[in-house]
Amino acid sequence: MAVEGTTTLVGVAAVLGLVLGSFANVVIARVPAGASIVRPASACPACAAPIRPRDNVPVLSWVVLRGRCRACGWRIPSRYPLVELASAGLLALIAWRIGWSPELPAYLLFAWTLLVLSVIDLDHKRIPNRLTYPLTPVLAVLLVAAGLAGGDPGQALRALLGGVVAFAVLLALALINPRGMGLGDVKLAAFLGLGLGFLGWDHLVLGLFAAFLLGGLVAVALLALRRRGRRDEIPFGPWLAAGSLVAVLLGEPLIAAYLGATGLG
Ligand SMILES: [Zn+2]
Repeated sequence: MAVEGTTTLVGVAAVLGLVLGSFANVVIARVPAGASIVRPASACPACAAPIRPRDNVPVLSWVVLRGRCRACGWRIPSRYPLVELASAGLLALIAWRIGWSPELPAYLLFAWTLLVLSVIDLDHKRIPNRLTYPLTPVLAVLLVAAGLAGGDPGQALRALLGGVVAFAVLLALALINPRGMGLGDVKLAAFLGLGLGFLGWDHLVLGLFAAFLLGGLVAVALLALRRRGRRDEIPFGPWLAAGSLVAVLLGEPLIAAYLGATGLG
């Protein structure tokens, strides 16, 4: 692919990420509360003043308003622009990594969903079925279509098998240790298994390995620092998401380095 083509694509993905990041804030706030994500229009949680379009520009409005509601001065949490920036950064990285290809829409959805589910899991210690149930089949359809469009039915099949295998592995772990992992994590595993399986079994293994490594290291560090008691639940969803994104974005060089170091390559 031409370099200018890549730059344009990454820029478009970043702008799309800002807009979808704004929508992510709506989903993160409303879905766990069981509220509609389309109605009513956004309003200030403190004074209920409707948010005008010019005050609803991702990141910029927050900066211009100095993080306060125009009507009542309520402090808008910095998490709103941070989620928008994270969404823009993630979608730009995905566009850079995947490029113009039939699977690009699937991986933009993949990254956006993992961001949203991670924040909700950190907030509420659960991963809502209201998101995994509709988005998992959508991802499956996008990936199967991409595999077929790319002339590789095997890749489409591997995506589906990846979803089943990841689901089965985490279900087994959840049955062995119900306190360590919830069924929300198991359903999330089906979602990320689709995206990782499409890229290859090595990516699926790497994604799950990275999730347990990152989650385990942080849990040990928090215990050592006595920031958390042994019985406090540390959500696992964000680590599954982080491991998966590492595998998608850095899988090729990491797997090549591993094969080279072990003499398997
Ligand atoms: Zn207000």
